[in-house]
Amino acid sequence: MTEAFSPDPFRLFAVIVAAGRGSRFGGPIPKQYARLKGSAVLRTTAQSFLSYSRQVSVIVVIHPDDRALYDQAIEGLALLPPVHGGATRQDSVRLGLEALDAAPQDIVMIHDAARPLLDHAIIDRAIAALQASDAALVAIPVRDTIKRGEAGVVIATVDREHLWRAQTPQTFRYGRIMSAHHAALGLDLTDDAAVAEQAGMTVELVMGSEDNFKITTADDLARANRLVGTGYEFRTGQGFDVHQLVKGDHVWINGIRIPHSAKLLGHSDADVGLHALTDALLGAIGAGDIGNHFPPTDERWRGADSSKFLAHAGELIAEKGGTITHCDVTIICERPKIGPHRAAMVTRIAEILKINPVRVSVKATTTEELGFTGRKEGIAAQAVATVRLPALD
Ligand code: MG
Repeated sequence: MTEAFSPDPFRLFAVIVAAGRGSRFGGPIPKQYARLKGSAVLRTTAQSFLSYSRQVSVIVVIHPDDRALYDQAIEGLALLPPVHGGATRQDSVRLGLEALDAAPQDIVMIHDAARPLLDHAIIDRAIAALQASDAALVAIPVRDTIKRGEAGVVIATVDREHLWRAQTPQTFRYGRIMSAHHAALGLDLTDDAAVAEQAGMTVELVMGSEDNFKITTADDLARANRLVGTGYEFRTGQGFDVHQLVKGDHVWINGIRIPHSAKLLGHSDADVGLHALTDALLGAIGAGDIGNHFPPTDERWRGADSSKFLAHAGELIAEKGGTITHCDVTIICERPKIGPHRAAMVTRIAEILKINPVRVSVKATTTEELGFTGRKEGIAAQAVATVRLPALD
């Protein structure tokens, strides 16, 4: 990021206003502490200043009741100590400004906590505007046709040509805005640009962005989550299983019946591959193991088709809003040869889990005739599963 301009020595401050109660949001906590991609909205807002190329000192104005939420939200960020807000937004901003150890020529940007998607180009434009103007107001021109209505009926079409929608940050020299706020004490002004206008300052309009919108409703929060990316996290689980080979004529492996000179011993159908994969999926969501869900002491599962176990793990993931990204199962044995059945196994696992077969991998290996698998006393399987889940609160 290049400096917007250089010869003027100033320090840069940001006052983030987070004292509102967000009554239109409707959630249990104020909107500035709601979850945006797994952390608080306020944290993303503060980081948009902290990650700017030039050093920015950031102070947050909070509601006294929100101290615990605030501490949790900004943990690990280098911010100035917070200040408590006042009865109105105007009071809160003034209290934030008064708490700054700033010189008159320093630049202060006043910003809504609920506008987390502020980009650095906007900060650049706002600072650059102060070369020529007393103040900079980030805004976007109104492009929709604007109607004036009364009792649900249009009474006029408003000329939108000169209309702008005000956003934040609103940017000022510290000395000018501080005295403008003191002069405006007792007035009820809608934003800091209005405070500046009241003091006779020139307020330059600076192009904002549609993404720099204010989170007011739950729909806004959902939109912000879509914009910042996934809102998901990925988890991995692993599973391992062994079954003994005894006298018999077929084995079940990965949901496929394979004629063989022995069979696998177990309470269920002893499908070692599906058992390992079931455990991997359960592990990815921290849901215990196959024995918790289908105890071998339970008569219901005697001779059971292990596809039931695997399908159940898939359902538990779906209940959590998760999806299976990938499964990888390795069968460890000398015999039977897995290769000829690999494609059928992939298809069957995908079918049981209701996922695309490209998300399934089946592999096989021997142990070079070493150990119990090498002596054909049993078959082992291991599996790794990756699951996408909604990001944790
Ligand atoms: Mg087993």
